[in-house]
Amino acid sequence: MSVPGFERNAWQRWFLWLLLAGLVLALLGTVVWLAGRHEVEQVQAALDRDTSDAVADLRSSLQRNTQSLRALRLQAQDNGQRDGQGAPGAAAWPPEAAALLREHREMVRLERRDAALLPFAVLETPYRTRMFDKATRGSEHNDVALACTAARKLAAPAYSPSHYVPLLEGGGIELMELCIPVEGGYLVATYGLRDMLTELLGPTLARGQEVAFAEPDGTRLAIIGVRRRAGTRIFTSQQLVDLPGVTLMLRVDGWRAAPDLFPNLLTALVTGISIALVSVLVLLARDTRRRLKAERELAETLAFRKAMEDSVITGLRARDLRGRLTYVNPAFCEMVGFSAEELMAGHADAAGPRDGSGATTGVPGAIGAPGAPYWPTELAHEYRQRQAHRLAGGMPPREGFESVFMRKDGSRFPVLIFEAPLLDAQRVQTGWMSAFIDVSEQRRIEELSRASQERLQASARLATVGEMASLLSHELTQPLAAIASYASGSLNLLEGGADQGGGDKGVVIDTNVEVAMAVRRIAEQADRAGQVIRSVHDFVRRRDRTREPVAPRALIDAVLPLVQLQARKLAVRIDMALEDPLPAVLCDRTLVEQVLLNLARNGMQAMDMPECVERVLQLRVLLIGGNSIGNARAAEGRRWVEFSVADVGSGISKDVEEKLFTPFFTTRADGMGLGLSLCRTVVEQHGGALVYAPHRPRGTVFRFTLPAA
Ligand code: ADP
Repeated sequence: MSVPGFERNAWQRWFLWLLLAGLVLALLGTVVWLAGRHEVEQVQAALDRDTSDAVADLRSSLQRNTQSLRALRLQAQDNGQRDGQGAPGAAAWPPEAAALLREHREMVRLERRDAALLPFAVLETPYRTRMFDKATRGSEHNDVALACTAARKLAAPAYSPSHYVPLLEGGGIELMELCIPVEGGYLVATYGLRDMLTELLGPTLARGQEVAFAEPDGTRLAIIGVRRRAGTRIFTSQQLVDLPGVTLMLRVDGWRAAPDLFPNLLTALVTGISIALVSVLVLLARDTRRRLKAERELAETLAFRKAMEDSVITGLRARDLRGRLTYVNPAFCEMVGFSAEELMAGHADAAGPRDGSGATTGVPGAIGAPGAPYWPTELAHEYRQRQAHRLAGGMPPREGFESVFMRKDGSRFPVLIFEAPLLDAQRVQTGWMSAFIDVSEQRRIEELSRASQERLQASARLATVGEMASLLSHELTQPLAAIASYASGSLNLLEGGADQGGGDKGVVIDTNVEVAMAVRRIAEQADRAGQVIRSVHDFVRRRDRTREPVAPRALIDAVLPLVQLQARKLAVRIDMALEDPLPAVLCDRTLVEQVLLNLARNGMQAMDMPECVERVLQLRVLLIGGNSIGNARAAEGRRWVEFSVADVGSGISKDVEEKLFTPFFTTRADGMGLGLSLCRTVVEQHGGALVYAPHRPRGTVFRFTLPAA
């Protein structure tokens, strides 16, 4: 079913679903991104904090070192010998200086210099082999000069910018000078930048990070810490270390596994919820799709059912267990002429009074309650009883039952009703479903066919009578001729007797005896003629249509005079054999007599040909267990009586056989062709069957059965 509205709705629904899915995805994306960014910011902030702490640590450490240096007792060197160019001797230093160098590994060298910046005492760290030759450390040494100039200006310790010194053993080292003005010159301490990082920051900072002094352009001067691993994300924090005379930049690079999809619990949680949400969304969408499909199928089924209900001509009615009408189809409304609303309202009354709890009192349609509007008023009581019986659980007959309903205009019509329990999906009975078929038309047609059948039978009988009349006239000539001859004989006797024997008593007595005998013969013949006429008369007149038990012999006897009439004319011998005893048969005797007569007549006519010399018509009646020749009904345990009429005539040829039972089929010039078709109808109406078979050695045998009473 393709309804435009339905399709549009479906589109709208799809659009809404897509919108919802898009929004949820956007929301989830944003949340995940924000969570990730938050994490990054956290890491960056922590790094920045660490870096500032490191800078502070560095400064304070340097400060402490400066203080330690200033606190060195330098008197010893004042008394110490100067060695020419001022080549320093270890003895010129107090023992604390060496201890200081041992303790502070970041300081690689101590120098005393005079006011002209010429070094006169040098003490080197014990941890390194000699780094400098004298040439590189002269008074003109640039960085030392810079630092000391600054120190002099400031009258306070000052640092020089860092500088690179190639080492003797290869490689090089980045150094920074600290110049402290002291009495009579300067104390110059050389710091190794890398050692500074290791000693002053290493323990706290270097783990998992790369710590470096860098130049503003990013060039690393000294680095400690782990190298960056591949596939990690780097976080950088740089801070300036402001020292007198120089500004260093401390750069800390930290890294974490990146890109991190689940950087922490929060993000993992958000992601988990997002996945759950998306799954729910998917499930919901699938559910909706299934529901839509089911809805569509349901709509189709409903439409189909509706179309079916509207198109059937069978009236349908559903009642609940209280007898209230819950459904009627259009055909039912049309049948009874009431609208569905009228019927529902009417039936609600028919359900009978209710008790306080709202349940029916048990006997719906109780006495006094008006019936359904389509119940004929005169039958309402009976219908109410039937309904009560049904609602009490009485099962209706499966094959349905007939009833009469009343239309709105008051006219009655016969209906065939089929009722069945109405079960819900749990197979619990919720009421009764009834189907109605208006059988008035069927009844009318049946009545018509019955009437025409009757007319046909009457005309067939009249035809037989016409035939009988000719037979009668032939037959009556015999008794009449006999009567006439006996009468004239009697007259002759009387006249003769009067002439001859005036006084001859003996002759008179003879004559009287003869005349009396003749008169008796006359009476007999007249009686016979009368019988013949009566039998024909009886046959034509009897019209009672009732089924009654009739002795088979009585049936045979009734038609025998008529049969014999024809038999005599055609020189046929009648051979009768009736089983003894025989039960009575249940039949409409007039009709069965006609069947017998028809069959006997047909048989005799079949023998009416010159070559048929020995003309015998066999009439047999016997009792059989089942209706062996027709539809087997032995199972019913019913007994049947079989009549058979056999001739030795022409037999039935193939082409005659085909049309044998067709009305108006005949091979005789004066035939009507109605005999056999009527015979069969009559026998079948009685529940029996009519068949025929060839008769050995010649002729045909017709058999039919009738139920024993
Ligand atoms: P009708 O006797 O008026 O001809 P029926 O219906 O009784 O009509 O018979 C139809 C035809 O069936 C007959 O004309 C005849 O040809 C054939 N028929 C009926 N009975 C016999 C019989 N016993 N033997 C041979 N033919 C028969």
